[in-house]
Amino acid sequence: MTYMEDYIDAFVNGFLGMVQWTWRSIVMDVPWQTNYFWGLILISLVVWVLEILFPWRRDQSIFRKDFWLDGFYMFFNFFLFALVLAGVYRLLGLLFFDLGLSIDGLALVDIAPWPQGLQLLVFFVLLDFLQWFTHVMLQRFEALWEFHKVHHSVKEMGFAAHLRFHWMENILYKPLKTLGVMFLGGFEPQQAYLVHFVAIAIGHFNHANLKLTYGPLKYILNNPVMHLHHHAYTLPQGSNGVNYGISLSLWDYLFKTAHVPESSGRVPLGFPGDGEVPQGFFGQFAHGFKRRKK
Ligand SMILES: [Zn+2]
Ligand SMILES: [Zn+2]
Repeated sequence: MTYMEDYIDAFVNGFLGMVQWTWRSIVMDVPWQTNYFWGLILISLVVWVLEILFPWRRDQSIFRKDFWLDGFYMFFNFFLFALVLAGVYRLLGLLFFDLGLSIDGLALVDIAPWPQGLQLLVFFVLLDFLQWFTHVMLQRFEALWEFHKVHHSVKEMGFAAHLRFHWMENILYKPLKTLGVMFLGGFEPQQAYLVHFVAIAIGHFNHANLKLTYGPLKYILNNPVMHLHHHAYTLPQGSNGVNYGISLSLWDYLFKTAHVPESSGRVPLGFPGDGEVPQGFFGQFAHGFKRRKK
C-alpha cells in the first residue's frame, strides 16, 4: 500500500537528486563523459567559433536576433526543466511499480549480447526514427503545432536555435522515445551518453550559420542546409513541411519528405502568422494552451 506522501517523496527525491547531479556536473564532480553541462557548453563554443570563422550568411551578426533568448532556452530545456521531469519520472516509476506494471515484457530483441558499438548504433537509429515521426506529428496536428511554433518562430538561424522549443516538446517526445528503449531488451540507457552527445552536436550544426552538407553523407546525416529549409517561411506547394530529420536525413529521403533546393542561405524563416508567437520567454512558455480564435 502506498500513500500520497510516498508519491510526493518520490517526486521530491527525483527532483533533488537531479539538482544534486546538475550541481556536481557544474563543479565537475562527475565522470567527464557524463557531464552534459560542460559538454553542452563545449559543443556550443566549438560550433559558434566555426560560425564566426566560416559564416554562410556573412552579414549575420555574431549575436544574431534572439541569440540570448535561445541561449537561455538551451539551459532551460536541458537542465531547469529536467529537474521537474526527474521528479515526475520518479513518481511515475513508483506508480507503475505499485500497479504491478513491468516494462520487461515489452522487449522485442535482447541486445545485451551484441557488441557495445552495435547496441549504441541501433539505439541511435531507432531513437532518431521515433523522433522523426514525432516531429512529423508535431507539424501535422494543429494542437501540437501550436507548441512547435515556438521553435519555428526563429527568424535568424544560429546554433542555439537548436534547443529553443516549448517545454511541452520535452513531454511530447518522451513517450515514443521511452517505448523505443523498452523494445531493446538488456540495453542500459546509462551507456547512451555518447549517442546523446553526438545528437547534440548534429543538432547544433543543423541550426548553425554554416554551409555544410557532409558530401555524399547528406543522404544519411541531417545538415545545416537541409534543416534551414525545414525552417523556411514558404513551403513547397501543397506541403505541410519538409526535412523533418533530427540527426539523420535518411528518413526524409526514404519517406519522400526531403526538399533541398539550390540556396544562398538567405531564405526567409518562420511561417505565415508567426507574428502571433510571443517574443519573450514567458509568453512563449504559456503559448499553445489557449484555444485559437478562428
Ligand atoms: Zn519542425
Ligand atoms: Zn530546427
